[in-house]
Amino acid sequence: MSNFLEVKNLSVSFPTHDGLVKASNDVSFSVALGETLAIVGESGSGKSVSNLAVMGLHNPNSTVISGQAFLNLESGPIDVISAPAESVRKLRGKEMAMIFQDPMSALHPFYTVGDQIAEAWLLHNDGKKTDAMARATEMLNLVGIPDAHKRVNEFPHQFSGGMRQRVMIAMALVNNPSLLIADEPTTALDVTVQAQILQLLGKLQKELNMAIILITHDLGVVAEVADRVAVMYGGRIVEEGKVDDIFYNSAHPYTRGLLNSIPRVDKVGSHRLHAIPGQPPSLIALPKGCSFAARCEYKRFTQGSICNESVPALTVGTNGHSARCHLTPAQVAQHSLEIGTGA
Ligand code: SF4
Repeated sequence: MSNFLEVKNLSVSFPTHDGLVKASNDVSFSVALGETLAIVGESGSGKSVSNLAVMGLHNPNSTVISGQAFLNLESGPIDVISAPAESVRKLRGKEMAMIFQDPMSALHPFYTVGDQIAEAWLLHNDGKKTDAMARATEMLNLVGIPDAHKRVNEFPHQFSGGMRQRVMIAMALVNNPSLLIADEPTTALDVTVQAQILQLLGKLQKELNMAIILITHDLGVVAEVADRVAVMYGGRIVEEGKVDDIFYNSAHPYTRGLLNSIPRVDKVGSHRLHAIPGQPPSLIALPKGCSFAARCEYKRFTQGSICNESVPALTVGTNGHSARCHLTPAQVAQHSLEIGTGA
């Protein structure tokens, strides 16, 4: 599979009165058409900020961005970080689209859902309002809203939370984008509706051959839909690999900690949940060494004070499975048995 999006060495920071907030540091990832990359991490780990920069949705007056993010279009690659804002605006909604956690705040309460979907279509297509409304109805049908021809004339408050998220998906996909970035799309929904929305995204991905980036803190969602996973911590990617490698052979102590803090039905016998002690680091004063060092139970197995003194490199192993740790994957696996967190 060739990559549709290739992000290279992306850094995003915000100057504030208290200092420079380094929200995303030297982040690289890619996603191919038909593939789902899950980006996982706690709040403030840099996962949303990196993708907002790719979409050109940051505030240019208060954000400092470096690095590159190439969209590999049929006409050739374009770096959306260095491209003029007007060019990125034309790509947004057409080649790349984004959906958010809370569809109620993303939809305008005074306009019908049909008007809002039609407007998104008219931004990128020459056509009449009647054509746009026909396309809006077609999209509502596609995302499984019953009686789409009637409901296209209703307002957002007349839809349930799950149906509103379907409307957002319809609006995001109205121009057949090649890339969909879904930022916590099911967090505000109850479990059964969450499953329906994930199924819908999977079905649409197959039909439309989209690349999907799923931003989430929910490892259950990741296990269900992701092909590959990038784990972020303190503004950096600390581990990346195929979903099975991440779940069954994780190579970073933070990922092991995350996996051991959730109930696992695939674990035989009793399985003690293991909370990660402490708090994430301040993005204004990132530690000199590994950003996970203050919370890491594996630090004692490394040599001297290397974890506090140097940032580990992201080392690529077999299958493209990479981890940012001074211990090797084999050492992490071995010590996890001693610690009792064998993920
Ligand atoms: Fe833990 Fe050291 Fe690895 Fe960081 S580099 S995750 S502190 S063992």
